[in-house]
Amino acid sequence: MSEAQYDVVVVGGGPAGSTIAGLLAKQGRRVFLMERESFPRYHIGESMVTGMIPVMEELGVVEELEKRFQHKSGINLVWGKDPQPWRSDFSATGGLYDHSWHVRRDEFDKLLLDRARELGVEVVEEAQVTDVLQNDDGRVTGVAYKHAGVPHMVRGRFVVDASGQHRTLTRKLTGITWQDDLRNVAIWGYTAQYTPLEHPDDILVEAIEGGGWMWGIPLAEDKLSIGYVLPVERLTELTRQGRSQQDVFAEGLASSRIAKTMADVSTVGELRTTRDWSHICDRFYGPGWVAVGDSAAFIDPLFSSGVWLGTSAAWLAARALDAALDNPAEQDQALERFDATYRQLYHDILAYVRFFMDPNRLREEYMERAQAIGRTYIENSAVGFITLISGIKALPDVVSFDPMGEQGLEEVMKRRNQMVADAKEAAAREEAKAKAKAQSQETAPVGA
Ligand SMILES: Cc1cc2nc3c(=O)[nH]c(=O)nc-3n(C[C@H](O)[C@H](O)[C@H](O)COP(=O)(O)OP(=O)(O)OC[C@H]3O[C@@H](n4cnc5c(N)ncnc54)[C@H](O)[C@@H]3O)c2cc1C
Repeated sequence: MSEAQYDVVVVGGGPAGSTIAGLLAKQGRRVFLMERESFPRYHIGESMVTGMIPVMEELGVVEELEKRFQHKSGINLVWGKDPQPWRSDFSATGGLYDHSWHVRRDEFDKLLLDRARELGVEVVEEAQVTDVLQNDDGRVTGVAYKHAGVPHMVRGRFVVDASGQHRTLTRKLTGITWQDDLRNVAIWGYTAQYTPLEHPDDILVEAIEGGGWMWGIPLAEDKLSIGYVLPVERLTELTRQGRSQQDVFAEGLASSRIAKTMADVSTVGELRTTRDWSHICDRFYGPGWVAVGDSAAFIDPLFSSGVWLGTSAAWLAARALDAALDNPAEQDQALERFDATYRQLYHDILAYVRFFMDPNRLREEYMERAQAIGRTYIENSAVGFITLISGIKALPDVVSFDPMGEQGLEEVMKRRNQMVADAKEAAAREEAKAKAKAQSQETAPVGA
């Protein structure tokens, strides 16, 4: 069995893994990355927000993104009491970034992984991590993996879990809070024939009567990604009534107002499905390990926040690990700051997704809440809305993150622990609310 030693070992070559690996290699660190698939490989998560552009600039891939992918200018919403669809434009954030992209993830993820290689990362594809290696006091020191049927071990001063929903390390090393009110499932497919929206490169996000929402993502002139996200309980109920997955998707589309004008269900090819259950780990780091991307935290993709959140976390963690490698005695300082900053990004979006999921409010209410969560003094609430959901509001915290910052460690830890406790309390509250609602529906008189 071969064994090698690196500064950092990364599990998973999705956007979060490639980003942290590439940025650390750029700093001169020895980095080894294992990816279980062979790229390009299919992945969902196709619509980007502008908040991810600065980290793409750090990686040096913006020119390629511009060349290869469809622009995205904003979001078209069919949501709330207001009968009219409404629109929010990235350019309203007023900065440099007036558009992002809709990406084919097989190509996007390969671009980032290849870039990591160019920056000096040693990458092995078709390498499945099978175990975490720990020393006697529990510190993670490496991983075991299989490549071409042969077992290997690799050691690193830090191991990064970027294995997405598989959560190769975090499943073993930390507790997790599942957001039961956001226990959803997604069903989606693609069509080559579709009618574009008035602003043809917008994403469509539409609330569906009876629960859930649909997306329409124009990946190219001849490729629309169209998906239906609905609560697991609703899908279970519909399945119990004899509906197939195709029926559920077709009925969702038929009951939409705008999505059905974009695409005819008969032209949508093979449907795919996946679990879409929001969660957050109690810890994003521990002795010898760090977690970024979906393996650390995931939020329902209502605002297309996944890749932004994962790559922003990767950028924060890369700086924290760089500092920790230079100053082993101060590593907790750096990693605790990374944890607290990442957690704040997550909670701001989660709190807003939770509020927004109620489709019976007025547009102005959605806007004002975004402005309040953004803690900004932007006068215009519509600007507050796009600034929050594009990730631009969080940019100062991400770009100027200082792992050895001024604020005392005790203060940072207090903030982090408070966020963990708040998350658990909010999850419990939402679960109780959902249970009470289900019970009241069960006991409601027939025909009520
Ligand atoms: C229905 C749906 C729609 C979404 N839409 C959007 C969207 O429009 N925009 C957006 O930004 N986000 C969206 N997301 C979220 C987005 O897909 C994720 O947040 C994003 O892919 C996370 O990146 P990651 O690098 O953490 O994980 P991943 O992209 O999942 O990458 C993890 C990698 O790790 C590898 N791996 C796993 N286990 C191992 C192992 N043991 N050994 C080696 N390798 C391993 C996997 O093969 C994979 O390549 C959506 C999610 C869902 C479920």
